[in-house]
Amino acid sequence: RAKTQRRGGHFYFSRGMGVEIRERVRLMHALRSGFARGELFLAYQPQVELAARRAFGAEALLRWRTEDGRFVPPDRFIPIAEYSGLIIDIGAWVLREACAELVRVRAAGHLDFTMSINVSQVQFRHPHFIDMLRQALLETGAPPERVELEITESMAMEEPDLLIERLAEIKRTGVSIAIDDFGTGFSSLSYLQRLCVDRLKIDRAFVTEITDAARGSSIAEMVIELGRNLGLSIIAEGVEDEVQAQILQALGCPLAQGYLFARPLAPEALIEWLGSDALTRAA
Ligand code: C2E
Ligand code: MG
Ligand code: MG
Ligand code: MG
Repeated sequence: RAKTQRRGGHFYFSRGMGVEIRERVRLMHALRSGFARGELFLAYQPQVELAARRAFGAEALLRWRTEDGRFVPPDRFIPIAEYSGLIIDIGAWVLREACAELVRVRAAGHLDFTMSINVSQVQFRHPHFIDMLRQALLETGAPPERVELEITESMAMEEPDLLIERLAEIKRTGVSIAIDDFGTGFSSLSYLQRLCVDRLKIDRAFVTEITDAARGSSIAEMVIELGRNLGLSIIAEGVEDEVQAQILQALGCPLAQGYLFARPLAPEALIEWLGSDALTRAA
């Protein structure tokens, strides 16, 4: 990684950093025009009940396929979208698109299905965020009680009072709230109690740590215990093998998401997947 150097009160960028900045600017322009051309789409990763091995919902995950057919990973382009402000329009589109898919899933007969939507902190802080959310619900006819927003724990740490107020306002629209990547930010218990969140998502890093050899006293176990004490729903993300699924279930985690059950599915594949016996065949 390149570093800035301070000389005589001025900052100079090293050559490596210049290359990185140029690349980011290039990506930003490509993202702006690609978004306008319809290069973004959502993939949907099913979320399952561990005991019944039944899908109850899915998480919408943003995908960008560029003109030349290459995929840029979200961890690469979302920070650029945030930095450039593009995330506001993209995020509003994600809300509408995911809500529209929820309505299609319901029309296919899956009425107890919940759609989880990731929200960037930049988007979340925008003064019109709640209007954009209400608009998406209204335009698509998606039932708010079937929509969940995912915010990250790091975001939860930054401005506690703003966050508490915002979350309460969001809850009044009827949607529920999950804290994504939970366990990485060390939220205090009393703080968590003041936030009106519904669910904690155990970060994939702590799920990866779960093996037969190390089943007890894991961070995952602590998060499950914390969730239970606070009366929150718990879901584990990044479950890749059956051993992890079994241990999580034994520890009292009822819900999970991960490659073991399904990879993120192309938009046209979700409804078909839900109607298939893919989950029971995998078990
Ligand atoms: P996230 O919200 O924590 O999403 C989970 C990530 O883990 C996804 O990566 C998913 O594809 C991946 N994953 C799921 N199961 C497994 C597994 O079993 N093993 C492994 N190794 N990975 C698994 P993805 O799709 O690359 O997204 C990365 C991040 O980008 C997301 O992390 C989220 O923070 C962000 N993101 C994605 N879509 C959106 C969006 O629409 N809006 C915003 N603001 N952020 C988004
Ligand atoms: Mg997420
Ligand atoms: Mg996550
Ligand atoms: Mg993540």
